[in-house]
Amino acid sequence: MAEKKKLDLNRRDMPKQPPHIRRRNFNEVALGYTPELAVVEAKRCLQCKKPLCVKGCPVEIDIPGFIKCIADEDFAAAIRVLKKKNVLPAICGRVCPQEEQCEKTCVLVKKKASSAIGRLERFSADWEAAQGPVEIPEIRPPTGKKVAVVGSGPAGITVAGDLVMLGHEVTMFEALHEAGGVLTYGIPEFRLPKAVVRREIDYLQKLGLKLVANYVVGKTKTLDQLLEFYDAVFIGTGAGLPWFMEIPGENLNGVYSANEYLTRMNLMGGFKYPRSSTPIKRHRRVAVAGGGNVAMDSARTALRLGAEEVYIVYRRSRTELPARLEEVENAEEEGVVFHFLTLPIRLIGDDKGWLKEIECLRMELGEPDKSGRRRPVKIEGSNFIMPIDAFVVAVGNGPNPLIPNTTPDLEVTSGGNIVADPKTGKTSIDKVWAGGDIVTGAATVILAMGAGRLAARSMHECLTGEKLLTTGTEKGLGEGEEESER
Ligand code: SF4
Repeated sequence: MAEKKKLDLNRRDMPKQPPHIRRRNFNEVALGYTPELAVVEAKRCLQCKKPLCVKGCPVEIDIPGFIKCIADEDFAAAIRVLKKKNVLPAICGRVCPQEEQCEKTCVLVKKKASSAIGRLERFSADWEAAQGPVEIPEIRPPTGKKVAVVGSGPAGITVAGDLVMLGHEVTMFEALHEAGGVLTYGIPEFRLPKAVVRREIDYLQKLGLKLVANYVVGKTKTLDQLLEFYDAVFIGTGAGLPWFMEIPGENLNGVYSANEYLTRMNLMGGFKYPRSSTPIKRHRRVAVAGGGNVAMDSARTALRLGAEEVYIVYRRSRTELPARLEEVENAEEEGVVFHFLTLPIRLIGDDKGWLKEIECLRMELGEPDKSGRRRPVKIEGSNFIMPIDAFVVAVGNGPNPLIPNTTPDLEVTSGGNIVADPKTGKTSIDKVWAGGDIVTGAATVILAMGAGRLAARSMHECLTGEKLLTTGTEKGLGEGEEESER
């Protein structure tokens, strides 16, 4: 009789830079597993016959399969298993909310010790990168079909990767000078090094993807013009239009959207100014409005730029924070101070137009709203003033409007999101698919990848008539939650 596996409930931590050091540098916070730690962690997996973890993964990675390879110290095999379903393992291993997906459904979660799936995924991808040139898998013979992918964020990259592998000629258009979409302009270096993003895009280019940067579809050429040259088009232009709070004083100097603040830092290298050409003012007291990962990224960026005091101002309580727990803990360890149940209602400037303080109201929690979270209710008369010299608005983003505005036949929702079939990504226009944040609203990297995978399969079927066996999720893709993107 097979011996029953003894439970090891000691989930291995990943080494990290100590908080007092990392709060002043832009290097990656988490340092990754060593091979020894990865093997020990992998051996905790029970290799379930019906692995619940896979049900929690939007791209259905063979999780026990790749973990078994690590446990057997066959790291090359582990990355091969991962790449069958995920073209971005180094990125997903870092930024996917595994605690809400595969790790949440892992059988060991009942013992509060789920397998560290994300950390093991990251380990596999980093191990491969450290070995030198990556293995190029077998690609199908050319189909003669040409596909345009608009936007090079997670959804676009996934579509491009899948279709290149299936033998299509794929060109990916990016409006900015560097590919990666939100992975490049939005997520800071200390959470997702840009070299990691470049590495994964380089890999796709080695597979045959053509990348065209500085090309704004909707301006340089319209969608209709692209359709004259391509057999199919995928739109993955994301949610890059920042929302503001619509409160007095938002046009003062020292007020930023999180998009502007993070783009100046991440894409334009503002933290290296004057060695980079994009300046960013170094503020002493910074408040960030919002409670999602973008708010945490902004607050932690402000600390690294030298701010002495950094506050998160959030209108609900800690329980409702949409950011990943790990990011909240990192922010707290680094010295970010949280003001819960607090709503900024007015920004006050000096006589030169620079922000000097913000007026806030205290809140309390009422009945749950349609998101299921308890609704924040104002406590009248509880106004107070905080002295602040920079205010970053991180309360969410809307869809990029350029393509819908220049494509009259493209059906969009009242909020400006493109309407697409949740099972196929097909839009109201023939030969046009869409997926990711432009359809669902700001959500997570892995959900955008799941949408990309569904669309790639549907596009391939339309282009060739071949019905593929499942290559990804059949699950509906959820609405993005306010403030919870990335
Ligand atoms: S559910 Fe957890 S223990 Fe079971 S195979 Fe998946 S990762 Fe391993």
